[in-house]
Amino acid sequence: MNSQSPVALVTGSGRGIGRAIALKLFEKGAAVVINDVGDAGPAEEVAGYIREKGGQSSVLLADVSKENEVTGLFESIISSYGRIDILVNNAGITRDQLLLRLSEEDWDRVLDINLKGAFLCTRAALRYMVKQRRGRIVNICSVVGQTGNAGQANYAAAKGGLIALTKTCAKEVATRGITVNAIAPGFIDTEMTRRLNDNIKQEVLKQIPAGQFGTTQDVAGAVAFFVSDDASYITGQVLRVDGGLVMA
Ligand code: NAD
Repeated sequence: MNSQSPVALVTGSGRGIGRAIALKLFEKGAAVVINDVGDAGPAEEVAGYIREKGGQSSVLLADVSKENEVTGLFESIISSYGRIDILVNNAGITRDQLLLRLSEEDWDRVLDINLKGAFLCTRAALRYMVKQRRGRIVNICSVVGQTGNAGQANYAAAKGGLIALTKTCAKEVATRGITVNAIAPGFIDTEMTRRLNDNIKQEVLKQIPAGQFGTTQDVAGAVAFFVSDDASYITGQVLRVDGGLVMA
């Protein structure tokens, strides 16, 4: 391995936004650990592509909501690469339902993956980053964590919590050379949004000043900025990538 390459972990990077972030970080010179759960196939495809292009990448399957799996994930990264420089907490799910019909199970699952997963990975990464006195953490939140959204009480609460976690963590580690920032995407064209019915999509489109959904590349570009040296004095911030959907 090139000892100069920063080492990045992108959770949930077998597809969608995470995949685009992993490929962008590789383009910027990082060795990239692809994490996902379940089927290793898509994750292996991402890592294989990076290796074919001459980069360094490996797949580590782990459920970010399980403490023992997160511990194993970071132990494997340190034993293979010796360090962790960039953590992107991207893994996330939706289980949409109006609050009155929302089950405890769907509340817990969304909070466990989208919020607790980021906490577990951040705590594990910080153990190494604090010693290195250098690190970059980027949390993929959502505009609905700031605005709320009917039918997404669990998801909005998790993403709002993730924004609060971002700011708190940024304050705790700012003197250690570690920045912690959040990206709040609006509607990005991925499997997650392809599941929405056409009427909802048309209604959303009408509210986006840019007149179109974002791409995974739009989010990946914002992550590349936050992890770059150009952003070393920026921490605890939330950057919306939403075509102007929310302005405040
Ligand atoms: P996606 O469903 O296409 O991809 C999510 C990935 O996370 C999948 O590969 C999935 O297997 C993985 N994952 C799920 N649970 C996991 C777990 N427990 N451990 C590890 N990996 C797990 O979704 P996406 O649209 O690419 O979303 C990525 C992130 O961006 C999510 O946090 C999502 O909430 C956020 N986001 C998406 C949009 C959008 O419009 N697509 C908007 C705002 C925020």
